[in-house]
Amino acid sequence: MSRATNKSICQTMFLSTASVLLLAVAALAFVPAPAAASMTCGDVMNLSLPNTQILSATEVTTPVPHCNVVGVIDKRTSAQDPDHFTYGIGFELNLPDSWNGRFEMMGGGGTDGSLRNPLGSAGTELSQGWAVASDDGGHEDAPGNPTLGWIDDDNNAGGAAHFGVDEQARIDYGYNGIGQTTQVSKQIIEDYYGNGPQYSYLWGCSNGGRDGMVASQRFPDYFDGVVAGNPGFDLPRAAVTEAWNEQQLAPLATSTDINGQPFLPDTFPPQDLEVASAAILSACDGLDGLVDGIIDNYTACTDDVVYPALDAYTCSPTGAHGNTPHGGTCLTAAQVSALKRIYAGPVNSHGRPLYSSWYWDAGIWDPPTAFGAGFGAWNVSFFGPPNVNTAINLTLGAGALPMIFTTPPVVTPVSGPNGQEAFMFHYNFDTDAPKIFATTSEYPESAMDFMTAIDFMDGKRVDLSPFANHGGKMIIYDSLNDGIFSAVDLVNWYNSIHGAHADDPQSFVRLYLIPNMAHCGGGPATTSFSANLLAAITGWVEQRQAPQQIIAANTNTSSPFPSGAPFDPRVAANFPTNGTRPLCPYPEQTRYSGSGATNDAANFVCVSPGHDRSRRH
Ligand code: CA
Repeated sequence: MSRATNKSICQTMFLSTASVLLLAVAALAFVPAPAAASMTCGDVMNLSLPNTQILSATEVTTPVPHCNVVGVIDKRTSAQDPDHFTYGIGFELNLPDSWNGRFEMMGGGGTDGSLRNPLGSAGTELSQGWAVASDDGGHEDAPGNPTLGWIDDDNNAGGAAHFGVDEQARIDYGYNGIGQTTQVSKQIIEDYYGNGPQYSYLWGCSNGGRDGMVASQRFPDYFDGVVAGNPGFDLPRAAVTEAWNEQQLAPLATSTDINGQPFLPDTFPPQDLEVASAAILSACDGLDGLVDGIIDNYTACTDDVVYPALDAYTCSPTGAHGNTPHGGTCLTAAQVSALKRIYAGPVNSHGRPLYSSWYWDAGIWDPPTAFGAGFGAWNVSFFGPPNVNTAINLTLGAGALPMIFTTPPVVTPVSGPNGQEAFMFHYNFDTDAPKIFATTSEYPESAMDFMTAIDFMDGKRVDLSPFANHGGKMIIYDSLNDGIFSAVDLVNWYNSIHGAHADDPQSFVRLYLIPNMAHCGGGPATTSFSANLLAAITGWVEQRQAPQQIIAANTNTSSPFPSGAPFDPRVAANFPTNGTRPLCPYPEQTRYSGSGATNDAANFVCVSPGHDRSRRH
């Protein structure tokens, strides 16, 4: 599978997540009086904007009449890139004829590199009268945008991650693309309508969630509201973890792929991930008082609780099948060992943690009817032909780690015996991992500098006081089964806000953790909540109504869990099929009230689990 194809699948998944079936909005937020344009759409072509070229301005009738603007900021020819490619911050802005005064900057995804039609990350903002912008992160992936007219891919040198050889392109991807596009978009809005935005928002998931968290620190006055989903706020360290995970699975491989590297899909076929899910559920599902396939008391689902269950599901060396998985009833000792090392997080040879541990979660398997980019898709397999590794860690991740997050970049071809897969399987956690913190004269900002929302120079304390003082509000959501970003890492970030200048983080940042959901959606989970989230953030910003529980729905008409082995029959029976559950603001967790239908949020409450037992390192 080509890099571009794999990336487009990732983006398609993201978009489908953002436009999932939406719930009816329970509370309508204040909507400002509509405003109309003070110039024609074509006049936008004539605006004078610093370092900006408007390339097209087109009247469009759907989903509502609007002016679609495409442009580029800081277009240049790179002197640093050996290919001397054209770079620039491509952007797209939709200006509705009837504007409600709101502006949304959409966060990006993956390694960016393309323009998405800016409809809004909840899928409905433009339709509701918002002005919405998107950007390409400062580089263009193949096939490229025809209006922009350039691409920055080189399969012999990083593929879609090739832009990592250019320092300015790294910075544009890290934070400057969002910052510049927001400023230019606000100027165009002011020129077009005669007024700037009354309220400004940023909403994104994955790398787009990172965009939101980074913006709250680098550009604390730009946005009144931020929604950060599955945020890669600590992305370089997560990328190191991608290499760690693949190296834990590699010894389990029994064949090699077309690049001569360990072929991972056979290490954890779907039925084995089912067994892992059943094992974890056997230990932790009932800790919240309801056996339903959902581990709401994830803080109590510790290694001490899970390890005995994994042992109980380990194939017996002297059993009928020996130490061999067979049709979904047990795991090999090697599989269990790999899982323990992966969930504990990467360490160097001195045992020093390089990222974070992970919460154990039942979404580790990928049910055919609710597939999502969770554990399996990132670590094991993400579709594709035989003999080709398709785990996202070995495609998207394997381009980003050497080219973007390592300084200086290790120029790596996409495929071949010395390609991106080989880089991941040979990654050294003593000598390579520190390079995410490294700088050189040609690359003066380290990956941890330009990518993250962590101030490492301040003892890991997070200072969000400028954003808080601006009046900014942020809602973060994350999956407990995210295959790439650990929710433990995010919880530790959230807890680090305590004691910083903003003493009450709940007053302006709320965190929602979603069991079983995969990366930005999918999985056997309550994944439909975009409309309620949109109402929550606008209500918080514009009416000062702090969000409490947010209702999420599972729209599947049957449980993705089978009604029998290897799962407890109560799992499928009590799963919220075609129903709703409340998402609770951390540290509160969801609990069944003890009576009533298990697919009705009305029968669930948010409770404090007492004390946080999150594993920390
Ligand atoms: Ca449960």
